[in-house]
Amino acid sequence: MEGDEGEQYLFKIVIIGDSAVGKSNLLSRYARNEFNLHSKATIGVEFQTQSMEIDGKEVKAQIWDTAGQERFRAVTSAYYRGAVGALVVYDISRRTTFDSIPRWLQELNTHCDTTVAKILVGNKCDLENIRNISVEEGKSLAEAEGLFFIETSALDSTNVKKAFEIVIKEIYNNVS
Ligand code: GDP
Ligand code: MG
Repeated sequence: MEGDEGEQYLFKIVIIGDSAVGKSNLLSRYARNEFNLHSKATIGVEFQTQSMEIDGKEVKAQIWDTAGQERFRAVTSAYYRGAVGALVVYDISRRTTFDSIPRWLQELNTHCDTTVAKILVGNKCDLENIRNISVEEGKSLAEAEGLFFIETSALDSTNVKKAFEIVIKEIYNNVS
């Protein structure tokens, strides 16, 4: 439609979850197709912007990375401010990171009052041989909490694009 031309959307999306679950690498894989084996928590910018087209409209996702704040349990409210989407990430090989998910969801609820599109992300699915959380377990937590669910690997790229796109499309559905 002619009237819709040039219409733009800008969505803020946050990535949360325990330290070392792969948040920074999920973002670098999605935004730059890069993976870092020894990524340092402090390296990197605050956010990256990625564009995609939905219904012929340009949708920009401004995706925020904690830059390591989570190590000190000090993710600030500025980080959450204005977020309309969230990737809540655990590591399928580390049980403690899965056990932390309810706490992260709680934190998200505390800081964001609007409808936030959320996806539970089980990252590092390439580590099948040392898996500690089954797909079923991930799925049922997501169901219980009303979240989308996906397993990803920032290392081999499995489902990374898909994870972000599910959130972006859901946000778009929420606002359009
Ligand atoms: P963050 O602290 O959550 O931002 O985690 P990072 O992105 O810094 O990753 C922590 C460590 O896990 C790094 O050594 C990464 O190379 C590694 N890592 C991240 N994603 C994956 C993945 O999908 N598979 C594997 N095997 N390692 C990963
Ligand atoms: Mg990081």
